[in-house]
Order: sequence, then structure tokens, then C-alpha cells
Amino acid sequence: MASSEEIISLFDQYVIPNYTRYPVALVRGEGPFVWDAEGKRYVDFFPGWGCNMFGHCPKPVVDAVREQVGRLIHIPNTWYTEEQGTWARLLSERSFGGQAFFCNSGTEANEAAIKLVRLHSPKGRYKIITFLGAFHGRTMGSISATGQPKYHHGLEPLLPGFTYVPHGDLEAVKNAIDDETAAIMIEPIQGEGGVRIPTREFLQGLRDLCDDNGLLLVFDEVQTGCGRTGEWFAYQYFGVEPDIMTLAKTICSGVAAGAMLARKEIAPSLRPGMHAATFGGNPLAAAAGIATIRMVENEHLLDKAKAIGARFKERLTEMAGTLDIIQDVRVAGAMIGVQLRVPGAFMVENCMKRGLLINCTQGNVIRLLPAVTTPLELVDEALDIIEEELRKA
Ligand SMILES: *Cc1c(COP(=O)(O)O)cnc(C)c1O
Repeated sequence: MASSEEIISLFDQYVIPNYTRYPVALVRGEGPFVWDAEGKRYVDFFPGWGCNMFGHCPKPVVDAVREQVGRLIHIPNTWYTEEQGTWARLLSERSFGGQAFFCNSGTEANEAAIKLVRLHSPKGRYKIITFLGAFHGRTMGSISATGQPKYHHGLEPLLPGFTYVPHGDLEAVKNAIDDETAAIMIEPIQGEGGVRIPTREFLQGLRDLCDDNGLLLVFDEVQTGCGRTGEWFAYQYFGVEPDIMTLAKTICSGVAAGAMLARKEIAPSLRPGMHAATFGGNPLAAAAGIATIRMVENEHLLDKAKAIGARFKERLTEMAGTLDIIQDVRVAGAMIGVQLRVPGAFMVENCMKRGLLINCTQGNVIRLLPAVTTPLELVDEALDIIEEELRKA
């Protein structure tokens, strides 16, 4: 087997260097652990950037994919498949009873939502209000929706029609609405933006503004959806229902897929000829998606997300009491942000050396999206490492 060094030299020669990578090649994953090419084991508190919320290679999903891959990998959307129909039903029954469009990633799900908003809205209404600090993906529509100028530099002109307002500021949203506004689009909890958890009142305020002004409410649940908060979807965590919801990351336990769900009255506006995805809803992804939903319910993983979140919250709040370096702790189920008073990159490096993988976003927010199946003793051990490293600093 190739060493990390050999694998890195392949990348140096042949892979476009558009990512900043750590000098480690990973070769295997199981539950909360991954191993590198040298056999070193890591506890993964950021598995697959949140995609592997049920741990690496969960057996029911691996089994379902293995079975499906030998029977039918892909057929296009000019035909019906039971797998896609069942997958849509399972998602619809667990959310607001809408219909699904399937694609392959979060950004694609948001592109579908942007198109659906434009297709459904009365002529002349095309503007979408989004939020500063938001992250909606990297394709041109989604990056235009993303209210972070640092991601726009050099890509202009962006797709017109997005108005960014401060997160949590209902008055600013109200003032941004005009005759051309069609929708408000928001992550119920900003993920990449630093695990920013709004109040229920704010999200309800957006719902009311949409109802009063005839706008659509779009929730980007690519990071918060499919159990992350301890509910199937974050809109249920807050008790505020959107008209359109986008999903990806955890939806298939790490197999690439995305989905958009839309209320039944709205969904048909995405009419034939106006949108498509060649691989969208393919039998392989559908098998993984179905197996994921059944596993979550059979193994009570929503409860596990709540339990793991409670443990993190307890320990981190305790830490914040004795460690001045911690400015704020934000936890919603298995979605965890620890805002530091100093840049946090050193923590990622130091924890990695000690066999723990974490993330830092927005410069100073330690972000953890652990697998909900991580044993609590392992959570405690890993939190000891984080505490020691913070204390040293
Ligand atoms: C990761 C993410 C996306 C983009 O998903 P991709 O699958 O990388 O295209 C969009 N929205 C949110 C909230 C995300 O966290």
C-alpha cells in the first residue's frame, strides 16, 4: 500500500490544488475512527465534514449499497425506479408531506431551490433574501446566495437577485423586502458561518414575513438535516416550517446525494424540461438513503444525537467556566461550536497530532460534527485532549 508521502506526491502532480489539505492520507474508516496510510488511528469529530453522521461505513448502509450495486447502479430519470419513489416517500413522511427532487450534492439542491423559487413566483419577482455569514455551496447560484464576500472575489459578476442581511436581524429582513422579492433563504443554524443558532422567534418572524408578503421560505438543511439536531430536521427543532427544504451531507451516510423537498402546492412549478440531474436519485444513492433512514429509526439515533449533544454541552460549558480562552459554547444536538477569543487553527493541528480530528471555521470557532454513534467514553477522552490543548494555550 502507498505511503502518505507517495499519495501526496501523486496529488502534487495530478490533482488541481484548490484545497488546503493536511499532509495525511486516510485509507479506512469504521465508526468514530479513521486510519491513515501509516496505520495511525484518529478519533474523527468531524467525519466527512458532517456527512458521516452515523460513523464511517455503518453496516446497514454498507450492506444495502453492496446489494444494490450488484443489481442496478444507475438508470436515468426517463424511467421509474422503486428505490427513488420509496426514498421520496420516507423523506416526505418524516417532514412536511412535500415532494422530492434528487441531485448529488448540497449546492445542487440549493440550485434546484433557487430555480423553483423563480419558476413558482409571479412574474417580476425573483429576488431572494439571504444572510451574512451564510453558506449555501460553490456553484454560481449557491455562491451568489452565500453572504460571504470572501468567497466571491474574482468570480463576479454573480447571479443577480440576492440581498444579504445580518443574521438574526428581523427588522433588516423586513426593510429588504420589495416588490421584486420572491423568497427568504436561510440555514436554520449557520454551520460554516460558526454554528450560529438563532432564536425560535427569529425564524418564526421570517415565516410570518413570508406569509404576510407572499414569499417562499427556503431552509438550507444541508448541514442541519437528517438528524443532526436530534430531530429529523432542524425546522422541527425550532418548530417553524419552511416551504422548501434542501438536504445533502448526511442524507446517505456519506454516499454522494442531495435532495430538495417542496410543499405539494409548490413542487409542480419545477416542471418537465426546466431542471434535471443525470445521476439524481439513482438506485445506489436511493438504497443508501433508504437504509440510512431505517437505521436511524431502528437504532434510535435521533436520541443518540440528543444524548451526545447534552454530553458535549455539559463538558464544554464546564470548560468555559475555567478557561478564559473560550468565549462562547453553542450546541444543538450533535452540532457543536466553541468560539475562542483567539484564532483556532493551532487547535486543529495540535489535536491532529494527538489523534483527534476537529475543524475550525470563521477563524476562531472550533466546529465539531461528531458521529452520533460515538461512545460517550470516547467523547470524554477526546474532550480531555481538547481541554488540555486549550489549557496549554
Ligand atoms: C456543505 C453545505 C452546502 C454545500 O454542500 P455540497 O455538497 O458541498 O455542495 C450547502 N449548504 C450548507 C448549509 C452546507 O453546510
